[in-house]
Amino acid sequence: MVKEILRRRRFIPHRKGEHDGEREVPQNMWISCSKCHQLLYAKEYEDNLKVCPKCGHHAQLNAQERIATLLDEGSFAELDPGLSSTDPLKFHAGDHIYAEKLASDRRKTGLVEALLYGRGRLEDRPVVLAVHNFPFRGGSMGVVVGEKLARAIELAAMERIPLIIVSASGGARQDEGVLSLMQMAKTTAALARLSEAMTPYISLLTDPTIGGVPASYAMLGDVNVAEPGAYIGFAGKRVVEQTTRMKSSTTLPTAEFMLRHGMIDLIVSRADLRPTLARLLRLYAAQSYRLPAPTNPSGSTSTPYGGNGASSNHAREQLALLAGQQVGSGHEG
Ligand SMILES: [Zn+2]
Repeated sequence: MVKEILRRRRFIPHRKGEHDGEREVPQNMWISCSKCHQLLYAKEYEDNLKVCPKCGHHAQLNAQERIATLLDEGSFAELDPGLSSTDPLKFHAGDHIYAEKLASDRRKTGLVEALLYGRGRLEDRPVVLAVHNFPFRGGSMGVVVGEKLARAIELAAMERIPLIIVSASGGARQDEGVLSLMQMAKTTAALARLSEAMTPYISLLTDPTIGGVPASYAMLGDVNVAEPGAYIGFAGKRVVEQTTRMKSSTTLPTAEFMLRHGMIDLIVSRADLRPTLARLLRLYAAQSYRLPAPTNPSGSTSTPYGGNGASSNHAREQLALLAGQQVGSGHEG
């Protein structure tokens, strides 16, 4: 099923530039890697989950593809699919009319917003999953994305189901002004309640995760996992270049930079993501039986999972062991 979904939308991520025009590329048979520019047989590329077999570049996946690569087949049940932006500021600047951009992206992606969330199962364990869809407004965080995330977090807290958020976002949505920035506080407050409910949250950061997203929920996972080479940073490429007056290729922070500086816990290649997340869920579930039962605000003492504030030394040792294995086999550079 994963391969079928990936094949449905074959694409040629060949950037305009010096390599254009070198070779005729029959559509749907060959693609050109956007990083190393080598020609790849499309079927092999898609069977490899859109990871270049020559250089290891992890191309972006849309939300549907991401869900197919992570969850058990057919297990995802989307919630609140109709929530969409109302263009609260009636924003326009010159030729840029937000309402027209929204309509265009809705036609292009078949989705009404830049994030999907719902219930699903990962190796038969229930999860609440929220996934950014980068092709829609760059996966940017507006009012609806923030609201959907808050609902996903509250659902996970209420039912004590582990939460996974997959980030792929250019940051806060400029077209919604300060309302988009308010989503940082809203999602962070919701995550504090998830922590009180002692329910695990795994954050998966993919290329790119920029701006208000890593400045709030994307960096607040009990475990922060990233794909190799993912661009993760507070400022986008253009802002970095304008501010530093330097070519961004030498200054952009990647997942490997973030790992070295302790901002993320694991770098995991795409093929290993599903088994690694399943292992983390098993670890948290097993750990819950070793923890003393906490008293939550409602007075209940039940605790199906050990949350982020309560990791015991044993849990940390287990995670360190897991991290060592994954980092050792990653693409650090
Ligand atoms: Zn490549």
